[in-house]
Amino acid sequence: MQSSASVVRTRTDRPGMMHGHVLVRPGEIAFRELPRPVPGEHDIILRVRAALTCGTDVKAFVRGHPKFPMPTLFGHEFAGEVAEVGARVRTFREGDAIMAVPTAPCGQCYHCDRQQENLCETIMETMVLGAYAEYVKLPARIVALNVYPKPASLPFPVAALLEPLACVFHGLESVPLRGDDVVVLLGAGAISLLHLLVLRTLGIERITVVGRRAMRAEHAKRLGAERVLLGDLGAARDAVLADTHGRGADIVVECTGQTEVWEAAPSFARRGGQVVLFGGCPPGSQVRLDTQRLHYDELRVLSPFHFTPRAVRRAYDTLTNEGFEGHALITAVYPLAQLQHALSEHRNGEGIKFAVVP
Ligand SMILES: [Zn+2]
Ligand SMILES: [Zn+2]
Repeated sequence: MQSSASVVRTRTDRPGMMHGHVLVRPGEIAFRELPRPVPGEHDIILRVRAALTCGTDVKAFVRGHPKFPMPTLFGHEFAGEVAEVGARVRTFREGDAIMAVPTAPCGQCYHCDRQQENLCETIMETMVLGAYAEYVKLPARIVALNVYPKPASLPFPVAALLEPLACVFHGLESVPLRGDDVVVLLGAGAISLLHLLVLRTLGIERITVVGRRAMRAEHAKRLGAERVLLGDLGAARDAVLADTHGRGADIVVECTGQTEVWEAAPSFARRGGQVVLFGGCPPGSQVRLDTQRLHYDELRVLSPFHFTPRAVRRAYDTLTNEGFEGHALITAVYPLAQLQHALSEHRNGEGIKFAVVP
C-alpha cells in the first residue's frame, strides 16, 4: 500500500497546483501534486466532483493497457463544476454544474462523414484521461459536442454514469427491440446492469441476468431482472432454453469481455436471434464460433464499440429522467485519496461501481 494515498489533504493550497493520481506502472498508483491544467481559448477546466471506477481502469491498474502508455493520468467517467473557461467559450460559465463524456469525434474524417463517429480516426487518441484528480481539462471538441448541464437534483456520482450509459445506448442503437423480447445479459457487472435499466425503461420485462457473484446477482434482482442465474454457463443456457420452449433468447448481450463468454453467447440465442458482443477482450484474443448456428440459424452478431454524440444525448435524456435508478450502481463514495482502495473493491466484485470525490 502506498502511504502517500492516506496522508495528503485533498484540496491543495498552492496556486496553479492540484492533487491527482498517476498510474506509474501496472500495480502502482501515486497520489501527487501536479500542475493544474490551463484552458485554451475553447476549453473548459472542470473541477471534478465525482469520478467513477470502471473495469477499464481496473484492468489498466492491474495489468496495463495498450491505450494507456504509463506513466499517465487516468479516470474517464466524471462530473463536476466549471472552474474556468477559455476566452471564447460561450456555452458554459464558471460555477455551472456539468456532465460530459471523455471523447468527441472530429466531425471531418471518413467515419465521421458516414455518421460512424464512434470510429472517428482521432476519437481515442484525444480521449480525456485524468478524472482521478481535482481538475481536468475538457478540450474544445468535447465542449462543442458532448458537455451537458447537470440538473441540481442529479447527484454528481450518478451524473458520471453518462459515459458508460452512452456506450450502452450506442450498442442498442442497431438492435431492433420488441416489448415481448426475451433478453439474456451475460455478466452482472455495471455494464450488464446498465443494459438492464435501459431495457426496462424501453418496456422490456423478460430479462435474465447470468452472473457469477451472488451479491451482484442480488442487485440484478432488485433492479428488475425477471430471472438471475448463477454459476455455470452451460447450466444457465439450459435454463434459458427451458424458459423459452427450447427456442433460446431473442437477444443476448455479452457484458464480460471474456473469450469463453463470447464463444458461449450464440448458444443462448434463438434462430434468427441477435447476439451483441459488448465486452472488449484482451488484445490478441481470438474466439471460435459455431458456423452452423451463425449461418443456418441466421444469427445476427454485432460487436459495438464506444459511442456517438447521438448516444450521449440519449444517455443524457435517460439519466436526467427522475425514474432512472442509476444511483443503485454506485456502491460507495470515497475521498479522492482512497482511489486505490476503490479500485481494489471494484476488482474484488464487492460492489458495482465506486465514486471518488476530491
Ligand atoms: Zn469506463
Ligand atoms: Zn472523425
